[in-house]
Amino acid sequence: MNTHKAHCLILPFPGQGHINPMLQFSKRLQSKRVKITIALTKSCLKTMQELSTSVSIEAISDGYDDGGFHQAENFVAYITRFKEVGSDTLSQLIKKLENSDCPVNCIVYDPFIPWAVEVAKQFGLISAAFFTQNCVVDNLYYHVHKGVIKLPPTQNDEEILIPGFPNSIDASDVPSFVISPEAERIVEMLANQFSNLDKVDCVLINSFYELEKEVIEWMSKIYPIKTIGPTIPSMYLDKRLHDDKEYGLSVFKPMTNECLNWLNHQPISSVVYVSFGSITKLGDEQMEELAWGLKNSNKSFLWVVRSTEEPKLPNNFIEELTSEKGLVVSWCPQLQVLEHESTGCFLTHCGWNSTLEAISLGVPMVAMPQWSDQPTNAKLVKDVWEIGVRAKQDEKGVVRREVIEECIKLVMEEDKGKLIRENAKKWKEIARNVVNEGGSSDKNIEEFVSKLPSIEK
Ligand code: UDP
Repeated sequence: MNTHKAHCLILPFPGQGHINPMLQFSKRLQSKRVKITIALTKSCLKTMQELSTSVSIEAISDGYDDGGFHQAENFVAYITRFKEVGSDTLSQLIKKLENSDCPVNCIVYDPFIPWAVEVAKQFGLISAAFFTQNCVVDNLYYHVHKGVIKLPPTQNDEEILIPGFPNSIDASDVPSFVISPEAERIVEMLANQFSNLDKVDCVLINSFYELEKEVIEWMSKIYPIKTIGPTIPSMYLDKRLHDDKEYGLSVFKPMTNECLNWLNHQPISSVVYVSFGSITKLGDEQMEELAWGLKNSNKSFLWVVRSTEEPKLPNNFIEELTSEKGLVVSWCPQLQVLEHESTGCFLTHCGWNSTLEAISLGVPMVAMPQWSDQPTNAKLVKDVWEIGVRAKQDEKGVVRREVIEECIKLVMEEDKGKLIRENAKKWKEIARNVVNEGGSSDKNIEEFVSKLPSIEK
């Protein structure tokens, strides 16, 4: 007899920041007797250094099996071909699974690939969109989709107020794609996430109710929204899931022992952890300013510099770094670092996963957003949740060393930073409670599972 209640096919957009949250959500579903298969593109699978997870993995194709996105001529070419080849190969996969003892009956897809809904409909499957970004950001794109936010916004635009956004929207706080004319096709795709959303059975958001009450209430009147985050392995939160150690699907290999050994030798709350995530690139000048800002802050730091970014470091920076002062690594086990008692502050690009991880582990932030949704996340961190400061860029778009030094000191040392540190602790507690039994996200996941059709076979 089949012991599974239902079978969800999970379809992430092929990028680390999209795969991580969908994998964690999958584990939560699995703990509630839902069978999970994650469909990844062949090119994405090839790049995985770490492939250890309890869920099944199957391959589909984006039409660029050797290099994925990097092989495509441009972004539009990638998206177009992915739709064509992806729809076909996804259909083949569903047919293959139809003949197994546990056929698929639901597709959970990333709305960056909205064509998945059409495939789900063809096969009569339930479909759920999974937004990996927070609800305020999703709502901004929704307003672009509806034409309320015009592109690109100009100085003469009247004040635009958006639910969940603390004041009228300003160019420095909206996702970079909205204000950059070159990103027209990207923002078109992001706004397109909503084009067929009225056809889906459920809209899952990687956030939690308590964090974004106002905007969630507002959007729930339009779409069947369920917040299910934070999507952090259970061992860092409620500890209810077994065999739930790390991410399990990673493009980069973390330098685990090196980082943790070094952190173990640092005093409590003394270290600045610095990372700009998996894709963001800094300019040469910014890299230099950051290096000096960190050195001048007189705090110890653990800095993730991906190998492609390393040539931008000032000459002999790593060679001259004493081990008391700092450690530079190419990738680290971020959750273990954030959880470590020596970590006192996170200097971050404010990618949504990193932000949510810092919230969940109670680490105050220095926000240095670069592009995409990062400026909006930084705005929320500073002005709404009050769990960090934002390092201000000069007119050239560079954050200078003095600003970096001052921000780090503010968060870690001064009285002014006390409230920020206390707020960070408060959110950590809430984040744990929402995924624990009876918490807002746990209830939403339960409800989602209860509405899945049973497997017929
Ligand atoms: N991350 C990690 N080790 C690192 C740097 C990042 O494991 O050294 C993980 C981090 O925990 C997060 C993801 O990579 O889950 C980055 O996602 P985010 O949305 O913050 O940024 P993106 O990479 O999408 O810009």
